[in-house]
Amino acid sequence: MNKNCRWYDACPLKRYYQQGKLDKKWVEEYCWVDNPDCVRKKLEEKGIYHADNMLPDGTFDERLK
Ligand code: SF4
Repeated sequence: MNKNCRWYDACPLKRYYQQGKLDKKWVEEYCWVDNPDCVRKKLEEKGIYHADNMLPDGTFDERLK
């Protein structure tokens, strides 16, 4: 069974996905399977600021806001 990332409810990527702005592959490959490689997650756990429009692979999507 898949396990969501523990940050999912608070993560802006959840909102973007629900608004239809984010490709489903991101939530499928990272958020819904608690992927440990997510760059957002790594920064979150270190308490390091990261912009809302940063994707799980560390790249930015300027269309997201
Ligand atoms: S983008 Fe990363 S930190 Fe945010 S919910 Fe998905 S896996 Fe977790």
